[in-house]
Amino acid sequence: EPLIDVQNLTKVYDLGRGRTVQALDGVDLHVPQGQVFGILGRSGAGKSTLLRCVNLLERPTSGSVRVDGQDMTALRGAALRRARRGIGMIHQHFALLSSRTVAGNVAFPLEVMGTPRAQRARRVAELLDVVGLGDRGGSYPAQLSGGQKQRVGIARALAAGPKVLLSDEATSALDPETTGSILDLLRRLNRELGLTVLLITHEMGVIKRVCDSAAVMHDGRFLESGPLPELLAAP
Ligand code: ADP
Ligand code: ADP
Repeated sequence: EPLIDVQNLTKVYDLGRGRTVQALDGVDLHVPQGQVFGILGRSGAGKSTLLRCVNLLERPTSGSVRVDGQDMTALRGAALRRARRGIGMIHQHFALLSSRTVAGNVAFPLEVMGTPRAQRARRVAELLDVVGLGDRGGSYPAQLSGGQKQRVGIARALAAGPKVLLSDEATSALDPETTGSILDLLRRLNRELGLTVLLITHEMGVIKRVCDSAAVMHDGRFLESGPLPELLAAP
């Protein structure tokens, strides 16, 4: 079974007064363990909705979402929170806590999980080393460059030891050179930790640089999907 297995997913947003938007219209997505999978599409295509359905930040209207063998839609409350630890997420605008240090941001999910202090400190130091910020633990987000902020976001997303990383336009706010270095980091984490990455982007360059496979999304559907060389060769 693929690590991420989405079948016939639909999502209809209720806008009130009888108006609705169909953001997902029968999406099938199968991502094997160890892959970097990209979803390419314009604004409004449904990419973000799909990503948020994978970790159940958004509840699908119908269809199934299985991650690491677990039926995510069947989970609620504490069981859902536990399953989400297996799924890290990074964001376009980093979503860091500005009042906390870099180390404090990375420590946050471990605090929520109740990881003992000494173990937490070791893990935070290790994570900061992994993303190349070993000497910045005491800095505040405002003192960092965009690329450094995203490295903090990545370290925080990895804190609970997830098998899957969801990337929501993680490089869209960065210049091309910084984008390259963040994508290289994701690729390294994929190779070294076996991390499975599902990313969404509106940039073909991102797909070409890191993805093993990709899908092109439009109006809540996949127009085409497959391994990169074949996808790029398609007419
Ligand atoms: P993308 O990430 O590709 O830009 P989205 O998933 O954000 O696409 O949006 C897909 C469609 O769903 C759009 O028409 C958008 O306006 C709509 N949409 C997204 N989120 C919501 C929401 N919370 N409430 C209502 N409509 C939404
Ligand atoms: P905050 O005050 O922002 O909540 P802290 O500075 O108290 O964050 O640190 C949170 C966690 O990170 C603690 O577990 C602490 O041991 C660890 N930590 C603090 N400073 C560093 C650092 N420079 N490098 C690595 N880990 C650190």
